[in-house]
Amino acid sequence: MKIDVLTLFPEMFRPVTEESILGRAADKGILDIRLTDIRDFSRDKHNRADDYPFGGGGGMVMMADPIFGALESVDAKAKKVIYMSPRGKILDEEKIRELAQLDSFVILCGHYEGVDQRVLDYWGAEEISIGDYVLTGGELPAMVLIDSVARLIPGVLGNEDSALNESVYSGLLEHPQYTQPREYRGMEVPEVLTSGNHQNIALWKLEQSLRLTKERRPDLYEEFVSHRNDKNEDGTKRFSKAERQIIDKV
Ligand code: SAM
Repeated sequence: MKIDVLTLFPEMFRPVTEESILGRAADKGILDIRLTDIRDFSRDKHNRADDYPFGGGGGMVMMADPIFGALESVDAKAKKVIYMSPRGKILDEEKIRELAQLDSFVILCGHYEGVDQRVLDYWGAEEISIGDYVLTGGELPAMVLIDSVARLIPGVLGNEDSALNESVYSGLLEHPQYTQPREYRGMEVPEVLTSGNHQNIALWKLEQSLRLTKERRPDLYEEFVSHRNDKNEDGTKRFSKAERQIIDKV
């Protein structure tokens, strides 16, 4: 997948996109994140990319011309253009899955008071927010979007299953996790996890997930429980008898 990021602050991205899982995905050629500095397309002799807003109001607005130049340089007419914006629809699992299917897309990061509206109108940009709060720029939101999409691209995570087993994607919040040592400052790892009995371990994890989800996300819990009697495509039941007993118990 190729992602073009248009920003006034490309250096903000490197520590995130060149390290850890995203860095390895880039090394493997699965993820190609290209950073374009919008300021490079300023035709102003002082390299300015923003100006005062028409109609007054505080702050500065990013000018259309440098952004048009940056978008043209990445052939954005042929691609989906996303503008990170607190006015956008909030990023969720459905949108992340949709973006993970694409071969390429472009992310425009705003700064200051945002970008000239004509950029969004002309390029048909989709506005996406990462939550009901306002950040100083679109760079952190773009990194959140890239990270969440990248995890769903085959080959990015070592174990493909792990993305779908995690909180929210599985329909439930994840059960507690433990690692070595078995006893730490008097606190023991739950015995079942060291029992070697895989069926009991799976049922324990399901029960813990159900309890956490019921307490913290009753909306997800109700949705999950309403599917307790669903069948798989081959007509077999989605949950075993033992699993349904756990669902009923919680
Ligand atoms: N004046 C804008 C408004 O009220 O909608 C806010 C501008 S904000 C200070 C600067 C930039 O940060 C925005 O252009 C956008 O790119 C980014 N940004 C801020 N909060 C965001 C959020 N919750 N989600 C996505 N992007 C955000």
